[in-house]
Amino acid sequence: MVIMTTTSSLTFLPVLERIAEEIGRTPGRGRPADYIPALAARDPRSFGMAVAELDGTVYGVGEWRQPFSTQSITKVFTLALELAREGDELWEHVGREPSGNPFNSLVQLEYENGIPRNPFINAGALVVTDRLQTRTGDAADTLLAFLRAESGNPDLDFDRQIAASETAHGDRNAALAHFMKSYGNIENAVPTLLFEYFRQCSIAASCADLALATTFLARHGICADGTRLLTRSQAKQINAIMLTCGTYDAAGDFAYRVGLPGKSGVGGGIIAVVPGRCTLCVWSPGLDERGNSVAGVAALDRFTTLTGLSVF
Ligand code: GLN
Repeated sequence: MVIMTTTSSLTFLPVLERIAEEIGRTPGRGRPADYIPALAARDPRSFGMAVAELDGTVYGVGEWRQPFSTQSITKVFTLALELAREGDELWEHVGREPSGNPFNSLVQLEYENGIPRNPFINAGALVVTDRLQTRTGDAADTLLAFLRAESGNPDLDFDRQIAASETAHGDRNAALAHFMKSYGNIENAVPTLLFEYFRQCSIAASCADLALATTFLARHGICADGTRLLTRSQAKQINAIMLTCGTYDAAGDFAYRVGLPGKSGVGGGIIAVVPGRCTLCVWSPGLDERGNSVAGVAALDRFTTLTGLSVF
């Protein structure tokens, strides 16, 4: 099924239709995340993909209007919001090197003195959300307001069932937060931080919403209303960190196959940026062992292969 919202430029629609058809014929779609029990029941055959053009045109195929759990995709937006507020001082508290370890790993934190490798693993995202909480008094609501504004969808919201499910099974994130606090790298009380972080991860949004909300990165830092959130250089920096760290210990393979800045989440979504041109969001809940959507990576691989659009 293909639905179009506007007709001003649907350049990539035939490519998306071809990809959806190919994905539909491909068996073996991975398994939905089950360490957050509320995510486990998702159907791995679900698939949606959207492209947003820089003029706000958005179109897609499959279940591109279906909200899903954004999870770690939100780490891109909290990083943008905090980097815009704090500037380079943020990098004293979180690094920007690939970790080569799973997204929820604890191992590097001790020998690197509580400074996480990058803002897209859980430890790094906890630091960013903590600092955004200090500056705004409500990190998750600040994020939600930003996503509503950039997607043009005032109905975006937290999924309270998923937030509650993750809270009930959040021991590893709690361990990361407590451990970093022992090094003085977390400012707020750990329960406050976890409350904000789990609400952040629980936001439900569709491929259309997320493709639109990501366009500020393809516009080199300019928001949907024409105001500037990030300097051109900061937008470049975030795109670079997405390329090198956005899919965790599979970032090398993602760069090899897709060749775009991208960020995945265990809800099965992936956003990707073609700087200066457009953004993409794909969703399919079946994950590989590193927590990236199997059909999502395959679809983005096909997109850049068929169109020749990549940063390389
Ligand atoms: N909320 C999830 C967690 O903290 C996000 C992880 C992910 O999407 N990779 O474990």
